[in-house]
Amino acid sequence: MKKPHIAKHLVTVKTFTEPTIAYIYQGKLKTKKIKSYIKNSEIITMNPLYSNAYGGVKSQVNETDVAKARQIISKIEDKGKIRKTSMLPRKTANKKCPNCNSTNISKEKISKSAFALGILFLGFPLLFFQKKYHCFKCKYEWKN
Ligand SMILES: [Zn+2]
Repeated sequence: MKKPHIAKHLVTVKTFTEPTIAYIYQGKLKTKKIKSYIKNSEIITMNPLYSNAYGGVKSQVNETDVAKARQIISKIEDKGKIRKTSMLPRKTANKKCPNCNSTNISKEKISKSAFALGILFLGFPLLFFQKKYHCFKCKYEWKN
């Protein structure tokens, strides 16, 4: 017999300044069979300066999952304390700007940290965050 469908209350279990990090937590909760919802991510992705105005990106779960979600989140945070040592910057030395051939380029910072955090928290890189490059000489941007 099916349970009647009732509207559930969503509770914010964590607030983030960067949407990418919120998605990492969502992925982690999903592996523990907890459905979470991310609020404000679109507006903050478009303009990170709005993050404070909207109170950040919120990770929300059904009220029945709050206790379990908080437990999982605190475990992730304990693990996160060691992340700095494992986050070595990857070199872009072999890459060239396809537009002007300059080697004075950088990778987009958010993608880099999402990549490293993805490996750390989930055990695999987050391939849906494509690497993005930026040329300092001609301002050209491209994806890997
Ligand atoms: Zn260039």
